[in-house]
Amino acid sequence: MHYDYLVIGAGLYGAVFAQEAKKQGKTVLVIDKRPNIAGNVYTETVEGIHVHRYGAHIFHTNNKKVWNYVNQFAEFNRFTNSPVANYKGELYSLPFNMYTFNKMWGVVTPEEAAAKIAEQRKEITGEPQNLEEQAISLVGRDIYEKLIKGYTEKQWGRACTELPSFIIKRLPVRLTFDNNYFNALYQGIPIGGYTKMVANMLDGIEVRLNSDYFENKAEWDALADKVVYTGAIDAYFNYQLGTLEYRSVRFETELLDQPSFQGNVAVNYTDRETPWTRIIEHKWFEFGKDAEGNDLPKTVISREYSSEWKPGDEPYYPVNDEKNGKLYAAYREMAQKESKVIFGGRLGEYKYYDMDAVIASALEMCENELGA
Ligand code: UDP
Repeated sequence: MHYDYLVIGAGLYGAVFAQEAKKQGKTVLVIDKRPNIAGNVYTETVEGIHVHRYGAHIFHTNNKKVWNYVNQFAEFNRFTNSPVANYKGELYSLPFNMYTFNKMWGVVTPEEAAAKIAEQRKEITGEPQNLEEQAISLVGRDIYEKLIKGYTEKQWGRACTELPSFIIKRLPVRLTFDNNYFNALYQGIPIGGYTKMVANMLDGIEVRLNSDYFENKAEWDALADKVVYTGAIDAYFNYQLGTLEYRSVRFETELLDQPSFQGNVAVNYTDRETPWTRIIEHKWFEFGKDAEGNDLPKTVISREYSSEWKPGDEPYYPVNDEKNGKLYAAYREMAQKESKVIFGGRLGEYKYYDMDAVIASALEMCENELGA
């Protein structure tokens, strides 16, 4: 059988495209080298708990079109992300809000907190040039030292002075007692897990798992008129201009015979000494309950370790600094010459995309490509 489109990667970008193409009457084959669909949003059920195998994924967006789109494939619960930071046994509320400022400085009113930050940010004059300067200018040195520096350096394997400032701007700073990690109108976890949501997106579409595109590239390419490629852009070109840098993540997951380990989805270990960046306790994505609303007796936790990506590892985070930006631009130029191939997604576009941005990007591409 010959297809209109061959989609490489059964993650969110590929699933959105496949779904839209099918709606337009196109024939689509989706392949993925992994044994499962859903890419890095893959969830697996263990003792009634939906375990986020490739790290915590909390859907949040301000984009109503994207929100309506995903709600066609899953019902979302009311989960709100409020991580806790553990700095050498001291616990702080995240993101940076009045609870954090009170614990850090004993301040009680927003005016007192604002004054503390104003005093500490004085050391930064002019436009912040890197993540360290940006962080101090947002929340002052005390918070930078205890809640940002160690975590960021573990997460990125680079000094905060070498990292772009946009990364820290992902986190809200609020002079209110609001510890919702995201500034988003819509937030939640798909009830039943992300795998089920992506399976619904791929309903009626042919999917071949355990299928590595690069092992038989010419044969796969011959199956379709066009290719939608959602893997790493440098891998597509066999790293001929050099490798883009990525961070990879390793998880140590344990099933514990106790009802609760930390009482929250995420605890970030923000000191430099603890080797993991955070611990995720998966049951709290769904309030510790099974599908019938019963309390789950056991718990599953994952310690998350960050490392520099090397060939053979799974890439997770693009390192969007200047050097990599330039290399990506060169690959992008090569990609534009591949008239039969569309590159998309976090890896295909080498962008630190959240899930909603991936979906928005895929839908935009569908409009151009399918007129959908
Ligand atoms: N960050 C931090 N301390 C924290 C949590 C986050 O300094 O406790 C910084 C860190 O640099 C991180 C960035 O904020 O890379 C973005 O965090 P986010 O939670 O958005 O990262 P993700 O969930 O995508 O890994």
